[in-house]
Amino acid sequence: MNFSDAAQSIAEQLRTEMARPIRLSRQQVVNVSASIGLTSCPADGADVNTLLKNADTAMYKAKTDGRNRCVWFSDELNELTLQRHQLGKAIQEGFERGEFRVEYQPIFELQSYSLTGVEALLRWTTQDGEDVAPRDFMPVAEQTGMICKLDAFVLDSACVQIAEWHRRGAGCRVAINVSALRLQQPGIVDEVAAVIARHKVPSSRIEFEVSESAALLGVSNIIEKLEAFTAMGVGVSIDDFGTAFSSLNYLKNLPVNCLKVDHSFVCAIKTKEDELSPDARMIRAIVALGKSLDITVIAEGVETQLQLQFLHQLGCDEAQGFLFGKPAAADTIEPALVELVAGKIGASASRPTTIRKLVNG
Ligand code: C2E
Ligand code: MG
Ligand code: MG
Repeated sequence: MNFSDAAQSIAEQLRTEMARPIRLSRQQVVNVSASIGLTSCPADGADVNTLLKNADTAMYKAKTDGRNRCVWFSDELNELTLQRHQLGKAIQEGFERGEFRVEYQPIFELQSYSLTGVEALLRWTTQDGEDVAPRDFMPVAEQTGMICKLDAFVLDSACVQIAEWHRRGAGCRVAINVSALRLQQPGIVDEVAAVIARHKVPSSRIEFEVSESAALLGVSNIIEKLEAFTAMGVGVSIDDFGTAFSSLNYLKNLPVNCLKVDHSFVCAIKTKEDELSPDARMIRAIVALGKSLDITVIAEGVETQLQLQFLHQLGCDEAQGFLFGKPAAADTIEPALVELVAGKIGASASRPTTIRKLVNG
């Protein structure tokens, strides 16, 4: 056996041993897992510092790949880590330079097409004029912890906007995404209460979107935190529902107003035949679950009339997507909100198109 095979074998044995459940008492079993990074000397480096740094990089990769695994250091991995490091720095500096802003996308009730709210979505345009998509910067912002500052910025911006819209007759509920890391912060409930009080906005105008995985995993005292938000009058939605390991038990225990069907299910419906596809069945099941638990179901990523009709027939409560309008700047969307809040556009089959023109021009 050569050196790397031997190292791999030892690492695997360690990982397997660590993954065995530990019984603390009759009722309590603890599961731990090991994420192991491996590097070799002299191929990857000749001094202790370099080798430790390499092993750390590989261990980090093992964690982001899902934990409970062994990963070898490589030059590509090093390159990727460097890029991530640079992106992390760019996010921090971009934030300090004020390159981030919030856009809003409307959400509609499907029986009457009346506006039920908007979702606040973070946008980043760098000083070079490049738009960076949340899917590209969010994972790094989560790794560096910057996500907490970004989420706080979005809450603050949304509160300013809620107050402004309220004054101008465009008052509606604003859904705000909250990351698991931010929820994890011990002072989060008091901080949110302070921001709401500072801006003097009705807390019922705010709804927090928590991703399914955040609601399920990791966040300590999640039930207490969500209950504290609910007690303040802030709503709670489970975002990207159906994409993580759904446990129905947590739905029973969490104070949840809405389930947001992930747009990957909706976008799979391209033709009439797809209405019998596994994705369509998932949507049907989520809508039935929402009905049975008395939780509003919102479908995300609705782009076509066919998808809308399918959701309508199922009895899905609400929808958001490019069919109704893309996320837009607050001042761009404001005239549309004023008209929609006042109910000036009558219900008709062509309404989504009318709404889209109003929202995006
Ligand atoms: P999300 O919360 O599920 O947001 C919905 C995403 O779907 C948004 O992408 C929105 O622009 C996109 N979308 C809406 N309608 C359509 C459609 O018809 N077709 C398609 N293809 N896409 C549609 P976006 O803005 O790129 O955000 C991606 C994700 O990044 C969000 O998913 C959310 O998880 C995260 N995110 C965005 N803003 C924030 C934030 O302020 N804080 C946190 N923690 N996460 C955020
Ligand atoms: Mg969301
Ligand atoms: Mg979502």
